[in-house]
Amino acid sequence: MNAIKHFFKTFFLWELVLGLKLTGKYLFARKITVQYPEEKTPQSHRFRGLHAQRRYANGEERCIACKLCEAVCPALAITIDLEERDDGSRRTTRYDIDLAKCIFCGFCEESCPVDAIVETRHFEYHGEVREDLLMTKEKLLALGDRLETEIAKDRASDAQYR
Ligand code: SF4
Ligand code: SF4
Repeated sequence: MNAIKHFFKTFFLWELVLGLKLTGKYLFARKITVQYPEEKTPQSHRFRGLHAQRRYANGEERCIACKLCEAVCPALAITIDLEERDDGSRRTTRYDIDLAKCIFCGFCEESCPVDAIVETRHFEYHGEVREDLLMTKEKLLALGDRLETEIAKDRASDAQYR
């Protein structure tokens, strides 16, 4: 019985018919190809893109140089040096993220007790030399300053799910 079934399937090119059926189904379906960069797909408010350092409203940087992010980073991409200020507070003198090592896992963001280091929605960047992929403290703070409104809004949305 199986041999007869197999014969007819082969004779009528049944697998080909099944393949064409699938092609036909998608021929008239709604197209989902996105013409990037003119068109973009929706982004989650938890998107893990380029890092930024945040400041408080009075301009003071949030980071207290606790080094938790450096300790938790599985790629060893973060390097921090710090100093103690005259008022006894700790601040970083160096805060580097090597994007060539970073795997964008978000652990640094999760571990930060003061929401200082965050991953932004910004993902369109490139580097022509290796140094371009080294996010220094100055670059991180500058990006944080530029995107603060969006970052604050995303963090507020995130708080709803905690
Ligand atoms: S996103 Fe992950 S890999 Fe990248 S710096 Fe943060 S902890 Fe390290
Ligand atoms: S970014 Fe956050 S976790 Fe990292 S050293 Fe600064 S305060 Fe600590």
